[in-house]
Amino acid sequence: MSVKLTYLLDGGHTIAVEVPDVKACFAAVSHCQEVFSPDACGHCDAKFGTGKATVRYKHRTTKENHKFYELVCSKCGWEMGLGQKKEGGALFPRGEWKEPYHHDKFDKPPNPEPDDSDLPF
Ligand SMILES: [Zn+2]
Repeated sequence: MSVKLTYLLDGGHTIAVEVPDVKACFAAVSHCQEVFSPDACGHCDAKFGTGKATVRYKHRTTKENHKFYELVCSKCGWEMGLGQKKEGGALFPRGEWKEPYHHDKFDKPPNPEPDDSDLPF
């Protein structure tokens, strides 16, 4: 026996998987809800699934091949990173919403050269 599961994401996308039985389907729905469907943004007042705001899905890979999976609030742009379990690599929500990552913030030197123009020598 196999069960076909179609899971509707906020924003209209769907995930379709085939699982061996109803228990596996239940586990898949549970995992989809946990990872893809937060109820609300942890920063602003956006409630997802209401049509007023949606959760977006962001994936990026660094030059070192580190992979990041994040949920993004369409209203305020804040992000919640998903953790990856060491065993099996399953994703899980970290629960902490953060200000969007800006690369330009880290391109500047962390400590600017000290101004020593007023030293007597
Ligand atoms: Zn938000």
